[in-house]
Amino acid sequence: MSEDTAPPPAVDTVIIGAGPVGLFQIFELGLLGIGAHIIDSLPQPGGQCTELYPDKPIYDIPALPICGAQELIDRLLAQAKPFNATFHLGQEVTELRRLESGRFHVATATGTRLDAGAVVIAGGVGSFQPRRLSIPGVEAFEGTHVHYRVKAGKDFSGHDLVICGGGDSALDWTVALCEKARSLTLVHRRSEFRAAPATVAKMHELVAAGKMQLLEGNVVEIAHDNESPVRLHVRSGDGVVRRLGADHVLAFFGLHPKLGPIAEWGLQLEKRALLVDTEKFQTNVPGIFAIGDINTYPGKKKLILSGFHEAALAAFAIQHHLFPEKRQFLQYTTTSPIMQKRLGVAGEHAG
Ligand SMILES: Cc1cc2nc3c(=O)[nH]c(=O)nc-3n(C[C@H](O)[C@H](O)[C@H](O)COP(=O)(O)OP(=O)(O)OC[C@H]3O[C@@H](n4cnc5c(N)ncnc54)[C@H](O)[C@@H]3O)c2cc1C
Repeated sequence: MSEDTAPPPAVDTVIIGAGPVGLFQIFELGLLGIGAHIIDSLPQPGGQCTELYPDKPIYDIPALPICGAQELIDRLLAQAKPFNATFHLGQEVTELRRLESGRFHVATATGTRLDAGAVVIAGGVGSFQPRRLSIPGVEAFEGTHVHYRVKAGKDFSGHDLVICGGGDSALDWTVALCEKARSLTLVHRRSEFRAAPATVAKMHELVAAGKMQLLEGNVVEIAHDNESPVRLHVRSGDGVVRRLGADHVLAFFGLHPKLGPIAEWGLQLEKRALLVDTEKFQTNVPGIFAIGDINTYPGKKKLILSGFHEAALAAFAIQHHLFPEKRQFLQYTTTSPIMQKRLGVAGEHAG
């Protein structure tokens, strides 16, 4: 039998989305002895935390008064490690189908196929894409001199920077990088900003102190020249075009909310989110669950801690779905020998 015609491997569960909530789902399933395969279209786990705000501190994770967004993801990965989930990264799930057997066929754009007993959709805001600079020829600069996110602020220290945008990301990075860059110009199409007022005020202070420039207008052209890696042409409201040289351009125009293939799987949607109950966080298809930012129910709040709670209850519901005869009872990790065995800590703190 060739690989293409071989039946897909049978697995306990598939989690679609490796954001913070999908990662915690691995842990909650693992405690109950249920294995997971986890798939994400991004090349790394972490969802919005890693993709959009890795360096920002989060203040509302229980028992962690302050935790960097990437740090949270690293901690979730470490916590889930004992359960050896299989990660399929850089792959968008394009197909999810219920089979006659009651199991699920899951397939990705790059050809991974799995046969799952239950599926948890933890797809956040969907496969999100940053809005790009819409000027001809920009592709040639993307990834080298034009960036839509900052992995590490230090990469831009000592450089001539142009930041484009008027929201939180543009203003936060302007303030954070201003003193580290050799020069910094913020370009925004109008004089009003959508960012936190305190950050906008700080930016105006930096302009008044001569530490950066603010330019109102739209980027209309991008080119290389002999003096700097990037030459931008910015047209102001009065029609005057100014030329700006830079080493790097950081453009923050927000994200395309793109639900993607999830909208095509016959699941009940409400305002572009998957409708679930609040006992099991199950969709209208038994065996398909939805947790985190992707779901909706009365009172839903799109917070990481809400997603963690949803993952815990979904795990019990999945256990019941997979093993209906099994008696369910609540165990504490503090005292349960079986959970401690699964965690690989059995006997470590005995006596
Ligand atoms: C700037 C900012 C600051 C924030 N601060 C806080 C805060 O302080 N506290 C707080 O609680 N929350 C905060 N949030 C919100 C928080 O980040 C989200 O609630 C959280 O990320 C939701 O987690 P998730 O796992 O449900 O989804 P996400 O983090 O969105 O992850 C979903 C993953 O699913 C993947 N995916 C989607 N569709 C597919 C598909 N078809 N195939 C494969 N993969 C797919 C995506 O690529 C993504 O990686 C903040 C958000 C932003 C943008």
